[in-house]
Amino acid sequence: MSKKAIVVGGGYFGCSIAYYLAKNKIKTILVEQNEVGSGSSGGNFGCVQVQDSEPGLSLELTLEGYQRVQQLEKEFNLDLEYREMGSLLIAENEKDMSFLIEQAKIKQSWGLKIDLLDRNELKRVEPNLSTDSIRGASYCKQGHLNGFKLMNAFIGQGKRYGLEVWERTKVKKVIAAGNTCKGVELASGEKLYGDYVILATGAWTKELCKSLGLNVPIEYVKAEAFVTEQIQPFLINYFSLASFFTEAHGQDETTTSFCCVQTKSGNLLLGETSKPGLVSTEESGTRNSREHCLGIYQEVRKFFPSLLNLNILRSWTTYSPYTVSHIPVFGEVEVQNLILAAGFKSAVVLTPIVGEIVTDIVRGERLKYDLSQFTQQSRLA
Ligand SMILES: Cc1cc2nc3c(=O)[nH]c(=O)nc-3n(C[C@H](O)[C@H](O)[C@H](O)COP(=O)(O)OP(=O)(O)OC[C@H]3O[C@@H](n4cnc5c(N)ncnc54)[C@H](O)[C@@H]3O)c2cc1C
Repeated sequence: MSKKAIVVGGGYFGCSIAYYLAKNKIKTILVEQNEVGSGSSGGNFGCVQVQDSEPGLSLELTLEGYQRVQQLEKEFNLDLEYREMGSLLIAENEKDMSFLIEQAKIKQSWGLKIDLLDRNELKRVEPNLSTDSIRGASYCKQGHLNGFKLMNAFIGQGKRYGLEVWERTKVKKVIAAGNTCKGVELASGEKLYGDYVILATGAWTKELCKSLGLNVPIEYVKAEAFVTEQIQPFLINYFSLASFFTEAHGQDETTTSFCCVQTKSGNLLLGETSKPGLVSTEESGTRNSREHCLGIYQEVRKFFPSLLNLNILRSWTTYSPYTVSHIPVFGEVEVQNLILAAGFKSAVVLTPIVGEIVTDIVRGERLKYDLSQFTQQSRLA
């Protein structure tokens, strides 16, 4: 008899996991409280990031994932708008530059081709950039694609293998008997049983695990983002600040950090992340603020002064999961038959490899990677 899996969460990870499970003949139901892509994944910029991962297993999986993402258009026989692009991680002060230098050294030893750029070199790779307030940057090749097309591809192809997708279906709690996970209870009261439950619930993971007495260290940043009208090629690389890692993902309560990228069709995507403070995840998607967007725009213009006033087509708010340790909560935890997949630093690049690993766990295959460092952060209370 084939195994049955329930995947909770229709973001990048839920979609990829559901696809690989269904493809491998596991009877799979994906349950999403809103619509597929309604969480952080629908608010994201589609960058196939490679230089952001933590050295060690995270980076190893990222490098493996980078190879696989480049094969996805062929695997699906679909246009995902994939193209190669550079990534600039900018240091505005000595502290951030020291962080980039140290990270580059370690990541190079893991086989990542990463360069440190001074202001002159920066001007060469990003001609519209004003380097006045910049100390330096690290630079690396990465990819870019249309994230909605990627999620739709996982879902569409998964359905061909029998994947069921239940949207507008909220999971109230995970059902466990003793120390073994049996299924989930929906907000409607209906119970779904399976051999495995996989929580790919991003910023909501901590809350959902509480009912199991499982302490999961997933935090989240609040992000405001928007898309502008199309313009001629202006930004060559994905542009983000090192302070995102040195501060926004750290202990400080107030820091913000922005990122931007130009899509294949010429739109600029601009976003800023900050600590949510006491803002509840329940507010996700409801707080679009024109003033906030204009503030981000001013910040971006500090670096790109020749950028004209552009029309904002759409803005959104989202909550993006992370862990203070910078490594994800991924794998089998103390509750049997429960798999967690959340808090990844980079998402798009890891989608194929995370889906494949979860499928190996469910199929009882011997794993190629030791995930214990990703799971030992979660503890039963
Ligand atoms: C502005 C911005 C730009 C970004 N750009 C990039 C980028 O270019 N590249 C990149 O790799 N990363 C990027 N990120 C980070 C990336 O978006 C996240 O890491 C990623 O989306 C997380 O995916 P996920 O599947 O874990 O979570 P989510 O996409 O948040 O998915 C979790 C899903 O679970 C559902 N859910 C939660 N609880 C329940 C429940 N009880 N019942 C049913 N469903 C539930 C939610 O509705 C949600 O859809 C960006 C983030 C932001 C904020």
